[in-house]
Amino acid sequence: MEPYELLDPDCPDAIAFGKATEAEVAIEGLVGEAAFRESLGRINVKALEHKKACARCRSFTPHSVPRDERSPVWGGATLGLLAGLVAGFFRPNYWATVLLSVAIGAIVGFVVGGLSWLLRRPR
Ligand SMILES: [Zn+2]
Repeated sequence: MEPYELLDPDCPDAIAFGKATEAEVAIEGLVGEAAFRESLGRINVKALEHKKACARCRSFTPHSVPRDERSPVWGGATLGLLAGLVAGFFRPNYWATVLLSVAIGAIVGFVVGGLSWLLRRPR
């Protein structure tokens, strides 16, 4: 986890220094990937200081997102597998039906996971 992720995404001070740092890097003529990495490095240094100085960010606890992001895919695939094992009996090609159901379940799980990530993302 990057230090900037420890800050409250809605903290006005944190947003201000984040924007200021990006502007600073842009003025120095960096673009694209190089600019992104340079501002991230600087923001992380400031984030560590800010975390100690700001009451709002000190009380903020980041929730670990990556774990919940993956589970809908496995949940979907598992449901697809169960549905496929049953549906396969009624279809000409049993295992092709099972595989297709698992794939559809995983894709549905992936879409559901993606949507919930979009909704939870700080704007
Ligand atoms: Zn703050």
